[in-house]
Amino acid sequence: MAELPEVEIFVRDLCALVVGRRIESARVLFPAVMRFPEPESFAALLAGRRMEDANRRAKHILCALSGGVTLAMHMMLHGTLRLMPAGTEPDPQTLLVIALEGGEDLWLRDRKGFARVAAGPTEEVAARLRLAELGPELIDPAFTARDLAARLSGRRGVLKTALVDQKIVAGLGIRDADESLWEARIDPRRVAGSLSAEELARLHGAARAVVAEGIAMRGTMPDLRGVRGRARQDRSIYMHDGEPCPRCGTPIARTRIGQALTFFCPVCQR
Ligand SMILES: [Zn+2]
Repeated sequence: MAELPEVEIFVRDLCALVVGRRIESARVLFPAVMRFPEPESFAALLAGRRMEDANRRAKHILCALSGGVTLAMHMMLHGTLRLMPAGTEPDPQTLLVIALEGGEDLWLRDRKGFARVAAGPTEEVAARLRLAELGPELIDPAFTARDLAARLSGRRGVLKTALVDQKIVAGLGIRDADESLWEARIDPRRVAGSLSAEELARLHGAARAVVAEGIAMRGTMPDLRGVRGRARQDRSIYMHDGEPCPRCGTPIARTRIGQALTFFCPVCQR
């Protein structure tokens, strides 16, 4: 699943392998991949521009192109980026092909077809994707347990739902949120604003450690060269319902919170 660690690896690979190269052409194979502009305008907008930088905000991949244009890509749950030899015939999962100078094509693939792309003047892209509404980055070294407390303070919704809301804090997906709450021994069904300072400190540390481990192991998906990351696809409890909790042996429970499948230990997560 493309959660934050996987997206961060795509960004690092783009910086290492694509930044500095010129885009020769862009070919949209699946028109619905385009948030904006239309596929024909998109191809005309990208052709000839150089990729000058690649960054990430929440799970948005933001590529700065020459001339003040940003190419934004969102992998949703299953999208991947891959560098292929120029002219390789795209498979049916390929939504977009960006031909780069230097004899390689950048493919955006998604077996579900949910990944989305946008491009335009940088400020317009930021405004239309509402990047200013996103919360602080969980893995920013400056993001403290006190900041997490302030973001959750007074919230009456369910904790798990708040943690995966990128407008509150940017960084946790449904998998990493479950693992973080298990590590911190906190019940995902709690009211978001009900955590004690000590619980918030545990959760802050656990969440940052879970995401940092995912990044250090290069995520769970294939990278731009097709090499799969070594992070555990299913860590301790996500998708382990019915199996013994690694800490106390109680069968892991599975429930739905909002739209999200949620896994937790009904005994040692309080
Ligand atoms: Zn347990």
